[in-house]
Amino acid sequence: MITHERADFICEQEIEGILAHRQSPKPAQVRELLVKAREMHGLSMDEVARLSFVEDPELLQEIFSTAKQIKEEIYGTRLVLFAPLYISNRCANECTYCAFRATNTALKRRTLTQAEIAEETRILIRQGHKRVLVVAGEALPPQGFQYILDSIATVYDTRIGNGEIRRVNVNLAPQTTERFRQLKQANIGTFQLFQETYHRPTYAEVHLKGLKRDYDWRATVFDRAMEAGIDDVGMGVLFGLYDWRFEILAMMQHFRHLEEKFGVGPHTISFPRMEPAVGSDIASKPPHAVSDADFMKMIAIMRLAVPYTGMIMSTRETAEVRRTTLALGVSQISAGSRTDPGGYKDGEGDPNSSQFQLGDHRTVEEVVSDVVSLGYLPSFCTACYRMGRTGQDFMDLAKPGEIKYHCHPNALSTFQEYLSDYAGPQAKSAGEKLISIELQHMDGQQTACALPMLNKVRRGERDVFV
Ligand code: SAM
Ligand code: SF4
Repeated sequence: MITHERADFICEQEIEGILAHRQSPKPAQVRELLVKAREMHGLSMDEVARLSFVEDPELLQEIFSTAKQIKEEIYGTRLVLFAPLYISNRCANECTYCAFRATNTALKRRTLTQAEIAEETRILIRQGHKRVLVVAGEALPPQGFQYILDSIATVYDTRIGNGEIRRVNVNLAPQTTERFRQLKQANIGTFQLFQETYHRPTYAEVHLKGLKRDYDWRATVFDRAMEAGIDDVGMGVLFGLYDWRFEILAMMQHFRHLEEKFGVGPHTISFPRMEPAVGSDIASKPPHAVSDADFMKMIAIMRLAVPYTGMIMSTRETAEVRRTTLALGVSQISAGSRTDPGGYKDGEGDPNSSQFQLGDHRTVEEVVSDVVSLGYLPSFCTACYRMGRTGQDFMDLAKPGEIKYHCHPNALSTFQEYLSDYAGPQAKSAGEKLISIELQHMDGQQTACALPMLNKVRRGERDVFV
């Protein structure tokens, strides 16, 4: 039995009190809030709730354009790319929405060997990836937790030609502080974990078996990660389980708790919407399905609420939804994903061993070409965490807008690496054009930094960053 604290920082009463006046605010109030949001100090829970009730199309457009403005101010055109790497779909828990749940006999089970993980990593490297998210179900093989540590080491140690994975983020079961220390030693980037739902009764209904039944063990996970020195953490909710307004306010409470206790909130927030999954009824019919319109509104409002937090959109969503969310605040996307262990080698992605259905099936090169055509600069940068710019240090740099003197040149140099080493002729020519446009738009300080970096990469140097 694991003893731990109760997650009292999530206070349902406070959230329900705020949501009780389900009234659309007056246009003047909305505009006042948007003026405040443009100062980029974030919004309160009450302000977020008020914006969440806006339905007027004209006001919604104003929310969207403010979110876009804030995103461009902080992130410019950069868009970070990554891929998930599923290493095992064995699980001891029983989450009703997930194909990996323990009693799902329709699922083909597989835990990759280290050789198979290396093989998957080589495929991702050949696609041009530099950052992966290692994902696993919650049942360890006989090697125990060492399996996870070995898997991370395998990904880092795998190299082909100029290619290597430079940042391994993880999405794994909640750990003890001691195991978090081991993960820190193993050099992970972000520890990502979704609470799924912050609403206790719903949480109890959908988690039927195993350690995951314990709401508080999960909700206090970032406290343990941060105590162990992992200060880049990624939070999220599985949208569709409960009222989205409740969930975003709860995320803000969680955010507030981490800021108060550790001086820094999460590095990223993810917005997974529930997708159909083999052997799950609820996944095909989410009890609180979030419409596309509400999804867009929620993303834009969160961009205003926590302007400096990275926002992640996965390939659960279709290409079209993903494109729209980029303009509303999303700063990281996955590309070319498979959610079945071994799925990159096997090609198509096997629905009978996948976690859920994907909405975007395009290759990395297709995603890159698409985002380039929309004017975004794909970034394969991994510099910050390798330079120790994590947690509070990252936020200190990000907040005054200083980060653009690091991130933008790094985005250009890593994109140039991608174009030189992995892109086909068409993507390459479109990408080179984008790089020259980006250079024209940079200020003198940025160009002085970026140009020599680009020239080094063009001459064959790799992993050039500031
Ligand atoms: N087992 C760990 C856990 O549950 O946190 C980590 C891996 S789990 C495969 C990663 C995430 O997938 C879960 O946190 C959940 O939000 C998401 N997920 C599960 N079923 C899903 C579905 N049907 N559609 C979309 N996302 C889903
Ligand atoms: Fe297991 Fe995670 Fe799926 Fe739950 S969401 S069944 S814990 S893999």
